[in-house]
Amino acid sequence: MKVCIVGGVAGGAGAATRLRRLDEEAQIILFERGEYISYANCGLPYYIGKEITKKEALLVTKPELLESRFRIDVRTMSEVVAIHRAEKMITVKNHVTGETYQESYDKLVLAPGAAPKRLPAEGTDLPGIFSVRTVNNTLAIDDYLEKNKSSSAVVVGGGFIGVEMAENLSRRGLKVTLVELANQILPPLDLEMANILHREMLEKGISLKLNTGVEKLEQSETGLTVRLSDGTKLPADMVVLALGVSPESGLAKEAGLALSVGGSILTDENFRTSDQNIYAVGDAISNINGVSGNEALIPLAGPANRQGRSVAGNLLGKNSSNGKQVYGSSVVRVFDYVAASVGMNEKQLLREGTAYHKTYVHPNSHAGYYPGAKQISLKMLFDPQGVILGAQAVGVDGVEKQIDVIATAMKFHGTVYDLEELELCYAPPFNSAKSPVNLLGFTAANILKGDMPVFYAEDVPKLDRERVTVLDVSTPPEIKMGTLPDSINIPLDDLRGRLNELDPQKPVYLTCRVGLRGNVAARILLQHGYQAYNLSGGYKTYSLLNLDLGRIGPKASQKCRADGISLAVDARGLQCPAPICKVEEGMRKLRDGERLHISASDPAFGSDMEAWCDKTGNTLIERGSNHGVFEAVLEKGKK
Ligand code: FAD
Repeated sequence: MKVCIVGGVAGGAGAATRLRRLDEEAQIILFERGEYISYANCGLPYYIGKEITKKEALLVTKPELLESRFRIDVRTMSEVVAIHRAEKMITVKNHVTGETYQESYDKLVLAPGAAPKRLPAEGTDLPGIFSVRTVNNTLAIDDYLEKNKSSSAVVVGGGFIGVEMAENLSRRGLKVTLVELANQILPPLDLEMANILHREMLEKGISLKLNTGVEKLEQSETGLTVRLSDGTKLPADMVVLALGVSPESGLAKEAGLALSVGGSILTDENFRTSDQNIYAVGDAISNINGVSGNEALIPLAGPANRQGRSVAGNLLGKNSSNGKQVYGSSVVRVFDYVAASVGMNEKQLLREGTAYHKTYVHPNSHAGYYPGAKQISLKMLFDPQGVILGAQAVGVDGVEKQIDVIATAMKFHGTVYDLEELELCYAPPFNSAKSPVNLLGFTAANILKGDMPVFYAEDVPKLDRERVTVLDVSTPPEIKMGTLPDSINIPLDDLRGRLNELDPQKPVYLTCRVGLRGNVAARILLQHGYQAYNLSGGYKTYSLLNLDLGRIGPKASQKCRADGISLAVDARGLQCPAPICKVEEGMRKLRDGERLHISASDPAFGSDMEAWCDKTGNTLIERGSNHGVFEAVLEKGKK
């Protein structure tokens, strides 16, 4: 059997080597338009940030290895420019010699990937404007930065590649502005989760322009000017366009193969196209969304690699659909933070009209009493039967671990009740005995069983204070760091003794910091005959949804200065209300003008301290953050 493969990276190279492992006799020819095969697209942004320092590290496999070990005829700089289905022939253009020739096939595999979307604006072909897809694109960016001593960049698009490029250009010392048309970066996340990352980017010095389009790119005397939809003219030494990708289906379309969503190549579950001798895999095809069952574009390396592996077997009649059903498990680093997600998010469920519930938790990455625990914010969506529809997690440590577990549960059609029962590895340095995934299961099951009626952050403005009581059961020091508008405060531990302060005719909408004490309070009230609802994820989720990005700027220092400190308090890993209680206790011991240094692991701690100082007549001198440790220096009294 003679097999021609178009595209020599994830899907194509994987198909070629697997086919050789399965069939020693097959004639395999791999055509790659570019200079390199099997390169690490996913590593390209880190080369710009100089974390990956050697170009060779980006080249996962060399043609020589495929030729010697796998007896694959690798033809780089060779673009397949036409498919003649009736004759089972392809036309190939050799970009080195300029020659064009034809090659026959018994079976053809298309793995041409996806191309960066074009910006519908003038000036996109000016020098200094780049997309990031191939090793050569990346080397060109690197070269341009060096030669021009570039000091500023505009990144257009806040998807994975845009965010990774913004971070890496910033690590390289450039002043970076990220422009995004939507109201948030990273579309797989919902807004309140993305806000954690907006804050991180702003604090790390990235200038964020959300809800903003690019209208025009112009050459200026000093470099480039990016004209934005809000009228701003941004000067920049270079521009990266990262608006997402479109399937490279031109060849398939020309050949009359059936197409699917977004112009992707339509295949059956065995990756066979509408021509029985032609298969297609990777970013160029549409997948089946594992949650909705609909055709969807989910261009990721994992599915492309699995599909390449499967299709090799399918050429030999094995009929595997491994990789066709995709849940979109993904992870991205944003400076000190990690964001991971799987399945559908709330925006998508709303758009599709799917019935869902949701739950939020904000636990530690491992037992709080063991040093180094960092907070993770998690959100999970599930249907009325408890089937998991999607999950998102943002934090510093252990983030992708939670999503990997949930992705596995989803693959096996798991429910929130399964998450309650999951037995996961535990020892203090690694996890909590009730892991974050268990907590998602517990809270979700409580919601479905009616044990914990909930309301959500977006419901808060709709609560009619004439008809309902809004009650925060946090401690008074915590209330000084912020609470729901028009709420009253009865600390949880006083609640049983102060029930007479609550109108039994009015439903009580409860909150605390992260939702834990609110749940206990709801259980007390429900058993005393009240109608009670707990704010899922507590005030933390509310404040994330309502984060005022305009108030966040670059942090002057990543680490607070240690001089002039009278008292140091370590509240890392402690759950609320312990950190603020420690601050209050410490400040009581100080005289006016003396300073307290506090470190904590709650990302909102810095802004909480600002609010607390405002309310208590103390002064926030400095705050900083470093890999999930948040510090503040407070001075007793107003300066
Ligand atoms: P590709 O890897 O794009 O390979 C297609 C190849 O086909 C290309 O080399 C192209 O030159 C060649 N080709 C196209 N047309 C022809 C033709 N007519 N003739 C010959 N050759 C042709 N995914 C993740 O899951 N995690 C990540 O962290 C991640 N990071 C990424 C970062 C960047 C900068 C980029 C660009 C992508 C990233 N991805 C990531 C996506 C991931 O790389 C892709 O999903 C995956 O590479 C798709 O594999 P593929 O084989 O379908 O296509």
